[in-house]
Amino acid sequence: MSDPATSPSSSLPALIIGGGPAGCACALWLHKLGVNTLLIEASDRLGGLQRLSPYENLWIPGVQGRTGEAVAAALHAHIVAGGVPHRLNTAVTRVETADGFTVITKDQSFRACHLVLATGTRPAAGPFRPSPNVAIGPGHPMEALRVEGQRIAILGGGDNAFDQARFVLQRGAAKVTIFSRSRLRAQPLLQQMIPQADIRIGPYAADQDRLSVNGEPFDAFGVMYGFEAHVPHGLSVCNAKGYVEVDRHGETATPGLWACGDVTDYWHPCVTTSAAHGIQVAKQISLRLQ
Ligand SMILES: Cc1cc2nc3c(=O)[nH]c(=O)nc-3n(C[C@H](O)[C@H](O)[C@H](O)COP(=O)(O)OP(=O)(O)OC[C@H]3O[C@@H](n4cnc5c(N)ncnc54)[C@H](O)[C@@H]3O)c2cc1C
Repeated sequence: MSDPATSPSSSLPALIIGGGPAGCACALWLHKLGVNTLLIEASDRLGGLQRLSPYENLWIPGVQGRTGEAVAAALHAHIVAGGVPHRLNTAVTRVETADGFTVITKDQSFRACHLVLATGTRPAAGPFRPSPNVAIGPGHPMEALRVEGQRIAILGGGDNAFDQARFVLQRGAAKVTIFSRSRLRAQPLLQQMIPQADIRIGPYAADQDRLSVNGEPFDAFGVMYGFEAHVPHGLSVCNAKGYVEVDRHGETATPGLWACGDVTDYWHPCVTTSAAHGIQVAKQISLRLQ
């Protein structure tokens, strides 16, 4: 871990919350543009949601043969090698917006002139709780489910539902049933990849305690209800869908408060757009500070 040159009580020109692709790209660019900055991350590693993905990431132009976990590790290594000041295991609990920004964590607070929210999203759980037979979201939670010879219900009708149904079948599930309350949103290509899946469209009642859907028993659920934005307390910058509203530069309606990546719904969420959004914000902040 490297530390900012300033003491925590003085005001940093720029502070970034969240060390996924958006926050890492923003911090790297600010640092290289000569802006004194600090990147704060809640977990013990940088890389964001990519840390949860054991699957090959086929979608980053110019990057081949790397899993999401490897992409996350490369982001972490780049920030460390680049000497970008950062703190791990530091969750921001609250942000105050009077006279600049005060960012509050369990142990201390930081002040900044420009604050960037790069806090991303988390898998939406709906009414379900994670448990040994209920996985919330794709990646590691699903991979932890025992599926061989089991009857698996996938709840949700988007890309992740169809991807995970395919992976579960490849891992030897006896039966996979996809439940979608409304019309399927998954790409036709993903739907065509699992012609053997049993797909039910329409209202359903899923009971976590009995592990049943519409009274039919299953051995495990995979809940693929999409993602919801992760926004620290104290800020009123979200749109009706709960995402941070930004202009084309990445700035919110509060001057000096910026957001990038999946926590906004500005661009299609993925690693490349999140990183690009982080770079865009870094460039705008550096111009503003001139
Ligand atoms: C299983 C899986 C597979 C995926 N596969 C692909 C793929 O193949 N290709 C692709 O392009 N995209 C993929 N994605 C999507 C991609 O990972 C995201 O679009 C991308 O990581 C978003 O980056 P981000 O920086 O905006 O947010 P995130 O990656 O979500 O990072 C946000 C970071 O902020 C931190 N944070 C949140 N709140 C706080 C707080 N209060 N204090 C401090 N830190 C905080 C989080 O711990 C996290 O590290 C996948 C996602 C998943 C879940």
